[in-house]
Amino acid sequence: MTSELKPKIVVLGAGVAGLTSALLLARTNLYDVSVIGKFLPGDLDIEYTSPWAGANWMSFVKDDEVLERYDRITYAEIARLAKEHPEAGIWPKKVIEYVRADDLIKNNPLLGGLLDARPWFADMTPNFKQLTPAEMPKGYVQGITYDSYCFNPLIYLPWLVSQLLSHGVSVRARTVSHISEAFAHHASGQPAHLVVNCTGLMACRLGGVMDDKVYPGRGQTVLVRNHAPAMYDITGCSDADDELTYIMSRPAGGTILGGCYQKDNWNATPDPNMAQRIIRRCLEICPELESEGKLDIIRHNVGLRPSREGGPRVEKEKREEGWVVHNYGAGGAGYQSSYGMATHVVELVGEALAS
Ligand SMILES: Cc1cc2nc3c(=O)[nH]c(=O)nc-3n(C[C@H](O)[C@H](O)[C@H](O)COP(=O)(O)OP(=O)(O)OC[C@H]3O[C@@H](n4cnc5c(N)ncnc54)[C@H](O)[C@@H]3O)c2cc1C
Repeated sequence: MTSELKPKIVVLGAGVAGLTSALLLARTNLYDVSVIGKFLPGDLDIEYTSPWAGANWMSFVKDDEVLERYDRITYAEIARLAKEHPEAGIWPKKVIEYVRADDLIKNNPLLGGLLDARPWFADMTPNFKQLTPAEMPKGYVQGITYDSYCFNPLIYLPWLVSQLLSHGVSVRARTVSHISEAFAHHASGQPAHLVVNCTGLMACRLGGVMDDKVYPGRGQTVLVRNHAPAMYDITGCSDADDELTYIMSRPAGGTILGGCYQKDNWNATPDPNMAQRIIRRCLEICPELESEGKLDIIRHNVGLRPSREGGPRVEKEKREEGWVVHNYGAGGAGYQSSYGMATHVVELVGEALAS
């Protein structure tokens, strides 16, 4: 089919959700796709979450088949990319998760599936193993390890753009104040048949959407030049109820030390005291970080996870201007669920345009 005959789709949003949705739509060869976003890969802004992510695959889904499917599909695809496309900035890395006794008792809902000794993905992830007490540092009551993957968002997001450009998809900086305006932003100059809404956290402020279930889950991290032998994650910490401890060594440099999950907190400024606590906790769990010398700090980061009461919104909506397929609200799982959510978008687009 020539591109003039293909249905025209505008993807609104150029974070990991928008770029992955656009890529999977373009790969079908059925649609003429354009991407627009206020911020694009290369930009750094508190309204744009994707560049601030760790980011790894470490599913915390519990008893939810839809979310499990998102994470399962994504795991398979990133395993393929890590093998066949090293230039994408994804590499294999072992995960080690420890559970503190206090968290087992509190059952902190923010920590979800981390508390499962045998989570849903145990049979899917190679080298999954429950740790014995002898294999864990003192103070932890449960632990698991398995093979997973780490993204470098600063490499991966531009790589997604390069894939889109090679499929003939245009990616342009545009801002809209209402979802209906997006229909007028197809690169062909003609009105779009359908808009895919991937506006992340800003879905709570976008005219025509204004989703009041969406809220920020603030995350603060420290990016260092040092390297860690594995990715670590600890349930909670004794410093504060909304602080966490995690370590992710990225492909092509840099290790992310985290972190926190602060609900409804929009503050974009790093807290220097929290940064000290993060560093202390990460060194306690992984002293090897300093094996080649003192911690070498590159930057202090703050990002806002696009969280949503009831989970992400992936659904189609018929509006006066045409069909909208929503894909936002992934919270702290936007990378690890990205291919699964985008696969669901492709299904919904097919249904919407067939009707
Ligand atoms: C500290 C931290 C660590 C994280 N770690 C992980 C991890 O390890 N694994 C994982 O899977 N996830 C992780 N996440 C979560 C992940 O980063 C997010 O779920 C994901 O980036 C959300 O992507 P998105 O595309 O939905 O939103 P965004 O990246 O925010 O993109 C939204 C896009 O929409 C555009 N937009 C919004 N409104 C408008 C408008 N009105 N007009 C035009 N454009 C608009 C924006 O400009 C942008 O292009 C982490 C997040 C943080 C903050």
